[in-house]
Amino acid sequence: MERSLLIKPKMDDEYPTAVRGEGVYIYDAAGHKYLDGSSGAVTALLGHAVPEIIDAMYNQSKSISFTYRSQFTTDAAEQLAQKLNELVGSDTDYWSFFVDSGSEATETAMKIAIQHWQEQGNYRKNKVLSRWNSYHGITLGALSMSGHLERRKRFAPLLDELPSISPPDAGLAGAEELDQAIRRKGADNVAAFIAEPIVGAAGGVLIPPAGYYERIREICDHHQVLFIADEVMTGIGRTGRMFGMDHWGAEPDIITLGKGMGAGYTPIAAALVSARVMEPILKGTQSVMSGHTYSANPQSAATAVAVLAYIEKHGLVERSAMSGLYLLDKFKALGAYCPLIGEVRGKGLMIGIDLTADSAVNRPFPKEMGVTAAFVKKARDNGLLVYPAAGASGGDGDTVIVAPPLTINQEEMDELVRLFKKTAAELQQEYS
Ligand code: PLP
Repeated sequence: MERSLLIKPKMDDEYPTAVRGEGVYIYDAAGHKYLDGSSGAVTALLGHAVPEIIDAMYNQSKSISFTYRSQFTTDAAEQLAQKLNELVGSDTDYWSFFVDSGSEATETAMKIAIQHWQEQGNYRKNKVLSRWNSYHGITLGALSMSGHLERRKRFAPLLDELPSISPPDAGLAGAEELDQAIRRKGADNVAAFIAEPIVGAAGGVLIPPAGYYERIREICDHHQVLFIADEVMTGIGRTGRMFGMDHWGAEPDIITLGKGMGAGYTPIAAALVSARVMEPILKGTQSVMSGHTYSANPQSAATAVAVLAYIEKHGLVERSAMSGLYLLDKFKALGAYCPLIGEVRGKGLMIGIDLTADSAVNRPFPKEMGVTAAFVKKARDNGLLVYPAAGASGGDGDTVIVAPPLTINQEEMDELVRLFKKTAAELQQEYS
């Protein structure tokens, strides 16, 4: 191709042209092979070109690929909703609202939370509180809830107020900040609180302490505020449990899913809404004021059903937990060898690795050095894909996320660690 007219995230960067994917590997037009150590954007949960998923997509397309949600339901969409409800495994049913991206899922959750209170005549209860170092999506409603300064700053005049609560690594005191924030705003004005069970891109895998979400649940119940768990990144086995919230004993009112739900085979995402939240809507207008042309698309729904069946058949949630422990150990050991590698945190196959100027004293590199971007690029040149997680606060500090497909085997994990180590050693040399 002579010249590209494609708008890219970074126009000055030369992207390789991907031509083929197989298992945990992607191949480009120049014949280079990349180990997909980040599942793209923490998405390709099963790796590439899994025959069972391709068959399911083909079979669905032979019967019907598209129906419009206001005209038909389909077996594929109904099956998916039933399966997700079963996986949540609560005493309460969870209804599914299907959309096409994580941003739409969190924005739908926001709207349903507000509608829940409106249907009860409560029109002022419409603020959604959130935390710093959070990312809930790029569309304006989702961005409004996101504690990500870099992504907000151009659009600040169009967005709601900044978040008021510390990220979850602030510990249990951070949970108390929610109580204070609700009191400051007035509980009558607050519809919901949204949080990623484990913070992904905006914090680099920040894991709250035991008891954190149990306390969040108490505070939400006390003030009659809904709790939305944004599981777009953590959901569907990524953290070694089916849902990220399964690591804590607190049940959200609304769960958002995306990324791993279609595992990169199709764009599909969802807001799962508890029957408690749906009740006033079902007794009231009986219609959720949201929806897209491709909502509940049968082609996407059939793909997601096949993804969930594959995960179950191959025990991939348990495998994610085991493989995560293996990789966590390996990266911690690397840290002892390489001063560039700072703290390593993770649950299942969602691992955050801090890149530090001096890991002994946890001294970050200055932001201007762009160390995260340099690491991601060098890793790519070495044939390894990792996910950048710096920049949410606009301050110093660098983190990359390692989140390979849950199907990764031992040999591939060893290769991943070897390529990571090579990249860290080369960068270390450049900086010393
Ligand atoms: N919520 C979380 C926790 C995410 O990590 C993301 C994407 O990274 C989103 C929402 C937005 O999802 P999408 O990029 O599919 O719109």
